[in-house]
Formats: sequence, structure tokens, C-alpha cells
Amino acid sequence: MSLKLPIYFDHAATTPCDPRVVEAMLPYFTEVYGNPGSRNHSFGWAGEAAVDTARDQVSNLIGADRKEVVFTSGATESNNLAIKGGAQMYAKKPAGSTGRGHVITATHEHKATLDPCKRLQKEGFDVTFLEPGRDGIITAEMVKNAMRDDTILVSLLWANNEIGTINEVPEIGALCHDRGVIFHVDGTQWVGKMPTDVNAAQIDLMSFSAHKMYGPKGVGGLYVRRRRPRVRLTALAEGGGQERGFRSGTLNVTGIVGLGKAAELASQEMTKDADRLRKLRDRIETTVTEKLDTVQINGHREKRLPHMTNISFGFVEGESLMMACKDIAMSSGSACTSASLEPSYVLKALGVGDDLAHSSLRLSLGRWTTEEEVHYATNKIIESVEKLRVLSPLYDMHNEGIDITKIEWAAH
Ligand code: PMP
Repeated sequence: MSLKLPIYFDHAATTPCDPRVVEAMLPYFTEVYGNPGSRNHSFGWAGEAAVDTARDQVSNLIGADRKEVVFTSGATESNNLAIKGGAQMYAKKPAGSTGRGHVITATHEHKATLDPCKRLQKEGFDVTFLEPGRDGIITAEMVKNAMRDDTILVSLLWANNEIGTINEVPEIGALCHDRGVIFHVDGTQWVGKMPTDVNAAQIDLMSFSAHKMYGPKGVGGLYVRRRRPRVRLTALAEGGGQERGFRSGTLNVTGIVGLGKAAELASQEMTKDADRLRKLRDRIETTVTEKLDTVQINGHREKRLPHMTNISFGFVEGESLMMACKDIAMSSGSACTSASLEPSYVLKALGVGDDLAHSSLRLSLGRWTTEEEVHYATNKIIESVEKLRVLSPLYDMHNEGIDITKIEWAAH
């Protein structure tokens, strides 16, 4: 097969829709367009039947009961509903008071968790932001040590979106259930890629998103446990009472059909995809570390998603490296916030210094990634790093044995 440029290595940001998903969705734009809420005619029933099928496909993927799936617009909404809706429902004191309850999360969570948690702080809740170790993992021990008598909610990623590291979810689930604390998991990067069983992992609430598993954008869901315990939430969107009252609004039938099909395909193909992508990912890492010095792979080497790698290349700026590799779509460890380039707060949370955080790339592979693409991208990255390092006086000094961290630069 011939190589087609540009190459897409940013599947953690979003995935293309699987053509089989698009095919499944098409009739629901024009032929089967009834509102599932229209209970009194066949158009409505057909819409409802489509949503029911999707509910089965999604619940099969995560080991849930179909009644436990609440469709949303994606993981951002699901996280907001779980965190804000959960905290409000289980608050120990009424709105307007302080000391309303304690919530545990981590510093290197996605913004879609951090911002709702910061909102809770403003509304009288106490929030603990756990700090990961250098491996990026939040352990059950860390959560246990942070728990208090008034802890009401723990909200953690299953797998991190920048480094792919996997938290101790089943162990934390067991701990939370023991203490009667609600456990929310942001499963956005995990669900559809890795085997998921909400009961085995003792999860109460779990967010997921279609566009990370070869489904359409703008649709996702929240798993809400119905038994042992029956989890309650305060709705954020009120209205027609759809989705057991947790999320009012006419259902996005087309999107939900796409999510369902994506979930079904993921159930069938995730193991094959993961095994193949792990080999390709490992090949990138092995080649890069063989050919280049001063390279660091961020996060735990084993306990991480198989299709992703986050690599820091010393003495090179991630942004310059991306510019030099324009025909490869990747993410850098710098985030454009307003005018400045901030180093990734996730990498900083792991104790990666600003320089190495700025010099990092996230490569995330997907269902259609080929060996040719991996070969091309690996060589291109190596070549570009070598070229950029030729221009780096700091790299020269490093090679001459000068410890540049000890240099006292003249201040102006
Ligand atoms: N959580 C994580 C871990 C994510 O990676 C993302 C997407 N970048 C989100 C939440 C937000 O998902 P969505 O785009 O579906 O709102």
C-alpha cells in the first residue's frame, strides 16, 4: 500500500468515524426520523427502537444494564453531570453553606473534571487534588490516605489522555464501595479500547465519548449505577424528563445509533486493535530510543494504554519539532493558552521539568494506522530531532559534558 500524507497520529484527540458506523447512521437522518419521545405513533416507536438497540450495544461494551446508560453530548457533559450533579445530590449541607462535603480528584485530570471540581470549591465543597508519582498513576493507597469522614465523591480518570497511564480503578472502586463513597470514572480514553466491566471495577458513574472510539462527535454517555447502590444525581438540564430525568432534551438519535455501532465494533475488535497497535507503538519507542540520546518516555512503561506514547526529546522544542514534521499530526506537551505556550500541566504533575515538558510529543495510533506510517513517522521524527539539535548550543554544551542545569545565566 502506498503511503498517504499527512499521517494522523492524534487518535487520543479524536478518531475518524468507522465507515460501518456512518452506514448505520445514514437512515436515521432521512428515513427513520421520529422523535423517540413520540410515544403515540410508529415514527416515534422506530426512533425508540433504534435508541434501545444502541443502549444494548453500549451496555454490552461496559458490562452494564441497559437502563444504566444515560446518553449525553459527550464526556465533558457526562463529567459535569456526574461531578456537579453527584456532589449536589450527596451534599451534607444545603447550598450557600461551607463544609458541604469532600471530593477527591487528581491534579493531572482532564479539564472537564478539574473545572467542575473548581466550581464545587466555589459552592462550598472541599476538594483534594491528589498528586501522582513520577509514573503518573493514582493508587488506591493515595485515595485511601485522602479519604475523610465527609468524603462524598471520588472522580478519577481510568486512563490519562496525555500519557495513557492507567489508574488503579478496580482497587479504588472496592475502597469507595467499602466506605460508601460514590466513585466516578472518566473513561473517555479507555472505553472502547480496553475491556470494561463496571461491576467488576465497582464503578458508580462512568463517562465515555463516541468520537474517541470511531464514532461521531458530540455524543457520549454516562453510566449511572442502579443497584448496590442506586446512584442519584441532580440533573443539570431539566425539561422533558428524558433519560430517567438525568438529562432532558430530545435524543440525538443519529448520533446515538453511531455510538451504539461504534460500541459494538469496539467489543469485537478492541483486542485485535490493541495487540497490533502495541507492537507498532513499541517499535516507535524502541527505534527512537536506539537512535537518539536524551529521550524520555513519560509515564509508567507497562501500566498505560497500548496505542499511545508520550516522549520528551531533550534539547528540542516540541513546537519546532511539530513544525519540522508537518506531515505528521501529533500533539505537543505545550498548550496554547492565550498568547503564551504553557508546558503541559499533566507532565508537570509527574515532575517533568518545563524544558522536557515543552519538548514532548504525544503520538496516538488508531484502527487504520499502518506499518508504513509508523516507519515513515519514526524516521522523520528522528531526522528532525537530529537536525534541530545541530542548531542547539545547549545540546553542544551537553555533549561537552557541561551540566547546563548548573549554569548561572546573566540576568538583565
Ligand atoms: N475526558 C477525557 C479524558 C478526554 O480525553 C476528553 C476529550 N479530549 C474529554 C473528557 C472530553 O470529551 P468530549 O470531547 O466528548 O467532551
